[in-house]
Amino acid sequence: MTEKIKAVKGMNDLLPQDSHRWAWLEQRVLGLMHRYQYLNIRTPIVEHSALFVRGLGEVTDIVEKEMYSFEDRLNKEHLTLRPEATAGVVRAVVENNLLYDGPRRMFYMGPMFRHERPQRGRYRQFHQIGAEAIGFGGPEIDAELILMAHELWQTLGLKDVSLELNSLGQPKERAAHRLALIDYLQQHESVLDEEAKRRLHTNPLRILDTKNPAMQDVVNAAPKLIDFLSPQSLSHLNEVKRILDENQVPYTVNPRLVRGMDYYNLTVFEFVTHRLGSQGTICGGGRYDHLIEQLGGKSAPAVGWALGVERVLELLLEEGLGSDRPAPDVYAVVPDYEHMPLVFKTLQAMRRLGLSVQMHAPATPSLHTLGEHQGEHELKPWAQLGSMKSQFKKADASGASYALVFGAEELSRGEVTVKSLRDGVGAQKLESLQNLEQWAKALQSQG
Ligand code: ATP
Ligand code: MG
Repeated sequence: MTEKIKAVKGMNDLLPQDSHRWAWLEQRVLGLMHRYQYLNIRTPIVEHSALFVRGLGEVTDIVEKEMYSFEDRLNKEHLTLRPEATAGVVRAVVENNLLYDGPRRMFYMGPMFRHERPQRGRYRQFHQIGAEAIGFGGPEIDAELILMAHELWQTLGLKDVSLELNSLGQPKERAAHRLALIDYLQQHESVLDEEAKRRLHTNPLRILDTKNPAMQDVVNAAPKLIDFLSPQSLSHLNEVKRILDENQVPYTVNPRLVRGMDYYNLTVFEFVTHRLGSQGTICGGGRYDHLIEQLGGKSAPAVGWALGVERVLELLLEEGLGSDRPAPDVYAVVPDYEHMPLVFKTLQAMRRLGLSVQMHAPATPSLHTLGEHQGEHELKPWAQLGSMKSQFKKADASGASYALVFGAEELSRGEVTVKSLRDGVGAQKLESLQNLEQWAKALQSQG
C-alpha cells in the first residue's frame, strides 16, 4: 500500500458526524446577528504580511512567533495566513470606503491560523466568529456588543461563562502608566522570569498577564492602569457598566485584563469559563479607536469581539448542550435491485415535500478491483443490496422514524410496507403507492 499523507499538525478535519454541531451553533449566531442588524463580511484568508505587522503590533505574540508567513513564489509578495480577522475587516472597510455614508455593524466567521503549540482548545487552524462595529465611538456600542455575546451564551444554554471587563484608557494614559510600571518592575527585577525581562521595555503591560506563579505577588501589587485613567476614560467605562447593570449582565472589573493585540484602547473584555482548563477564554474583544488610522484610513472609532468556535463547542459538550445528529424521516429498504427506478420515483416525490429520505445502498467494491466478468455477480456487483435483516439493521442505525419496504410482493399489488422504527414495537402497515404522498404529507406536517 502507498504511504498515507497526514493532515498538518494542529489543523483538524471537521468530520461529517460532528458537522451538525457546528451548523447548530452557526444558525444561532446568524439569528443573533440578524436581531442586532450586523451584516456578514467575508475577507480573504491571505493578506499582505504588513497588514498584521502594522495592525497588531510588532512585539505581540502573534507577530513575533505565531504567523504563517510566506513569500509568493511568483511575484515575491510577503503574505500571511490571517491570524485574526479584525485587521482584514478594517482593510476592507478602508479599501471599499464603507464608512462613506455612516458607521457599519458587521460580523464574520471563518478559519484563522496561528503557529502555536497544539493542545486542548489551542490549534494551528482554528475558527472564529466575530462582530465589529466601526465608526461608533460611544460606550453604548461597547455595551451592545457585550450584551450580544451574553445573549448568545443564553441562546446556546451555556451557564458557566463569566464576563471580565477593564479599560485600557488612551495611549497617553497608558504611556504614563507604562513608565510607572517599568520603574516598579525594575525594582523587582530579581523576581522576573526571562520572558518578563525581555518584555520589560517592549511590552511591559503584557507582563501583568503572566501565568508564572512565582511572579503573581509582584504583579498583583504593580501600579494599576485604572489609576492612571483620565476622567473621560473613566466615564466611558462607567457608562458601559451602567448599561450592563441595568440589563442584569454580571461582570467583574479585572484591572489586570490586557489583550494580546496592541490595537486596543478603552473598553476591553473577555468571557471566560472554568470548564476548559487553561484555555478558558471563549471570547475576547474591545475598542480599537486607532486601528483604522494606523491602516491608512480616515480616523474612525471601532469596537468588536471574536469568539473561538472550537472552545465554545467544547464547552457546549462539557455542559451537555447542542443538537442531536439529524436523522432521516424515512429509510428505504430495497430487497430487489430490479425495482430501483420505481423506488427512486417514490423517494423523489417525498423529498420534494421536504422529507429527509435515505435510500439503502451498501458499500460496493471498485469495479477495477474485480476480476473478469463471469457470473451475474461480476457483471452487476452493485446489484447485491444485502439481506432484509442487514437492511433493517442499517435502517435502525440511521435513526429514521420509518422504514419503507419496497418488497416485490407488495409492489406487485401497488403497495409498500411502512414500518415504524421508533414506536418500540415496530408496528407496520401496508400503504398503497397512490396514498403514499398523502402519508408523506401528514408526516411532514407533524414536523
Ligand atoms: P489565548 O490567550 O487563549 O491565546 P488570544 O488572546 O490569543 O487567546 P484572541 O486573539 O483574542 O485570543 O482570539 C479570540 C478567541 O479566539 C480566543 O478567546 C479563543 O477563544 C480563540 N482562540 C485564540 N487562539 C486560538 C487557538 N490557537 N486555537 C483555538 N482557539 C483560539
Ligand atoms: Mg494567543
